[in-house]
Amino acid sequence: VPELPEVETIVRGLAQTLVGKTITRATVLLPRVVEPDAKRFSRALAGERVTAVGRRGKFVLIVLASGRRISVHLRMTGRLIVGRGAAPETEPYARVILELGDRSRLCFADARTFGRMRLLGPGEEPADGGLGIEPLSEDFTSESFNSMLDGRSTPVKVLLLDQRRVAGIGNIYACEALWRAGIRPSRAAGSLSRPSRSRLHRAIREVLAEAIALRGTSSRDYVDADGVRGGFQNKLSVYGRDGEPCPRCEHLIVRTVIAQRGTWWCRNCQRR
Ligand SMILES: [Zn+2]
Repeated sequence: VPELPEVETIVRGLAQTLVGKTITRATVLLPRVVEPDAKRFSRALAGERVTAVGRRGKFVLIVLASGRRISVHLRMTGRLIVGRGAAPETEPYARVILELGDRSRLCFADARTFGRMRLLGPGEEPADGGLGIEPLSEDFTSESFNSMLDGRSTPVKVLLLDQRRVAGIGNIYACEALWRAGIRPSRAAGSLSRPSRSRLHRAIREVLAEAIALRGTSSRDYVDADGVRGGFQNKLSVYGRDGEPCPRCEHLIVRTVIAQRGTWWCRNCQRR
């Protein structure tokens, strides 16, 4: 599932190819992946011009001249492909096609169809429950993070995954940040010391920034808007590496389950 660095990479690619283009026609091939219903979705988009492409948490946001936005959540297997060849005939999992004024197309393809494309009115937010702070924004300070943890008995890893608190962190970067900070993932968030909280705050920002610089982590499905794989999968310290030696202390990395999610960590050097 693409997390903040992967979505940011996709957004940067889309911004280069989509901004300034007009949507001449929207064709919905699988109605249940769009909101509102396919007819209203298609009608509203015809004639709209793309003014910007941005990101909020794990959502891609395509900003339109009218002030409306299209939010896209890629979930497991969703992809956004731009080009002249992006058509139902060449993309077997095409679910939505936006035809653009220059004869190119934006295709939303999704094999498992968990992804969603949603038309948002002005001021409407992409997630119904609201989204928390952007971890790479200036608002995400050591102090704001500290108060987020205060008094919380939730395992710190579960808190990091809660999109209503910090938006964009998923399983990969939660595991990696906790390893960097030397913190046990199941530790109650509110029980962490001030220095541990600061270390974790810094680790979150560092790991996300490094992953963006390498264009994200490529698992089986993720490629960016240009079909290019990321490079951060070669830099992962613990995620997906159970049975391998910890890069810091050489004890074997373990996989445990916290709140139904696989969690990779080092029992030896993540004791805080
Ligand atoms: Zn270790």
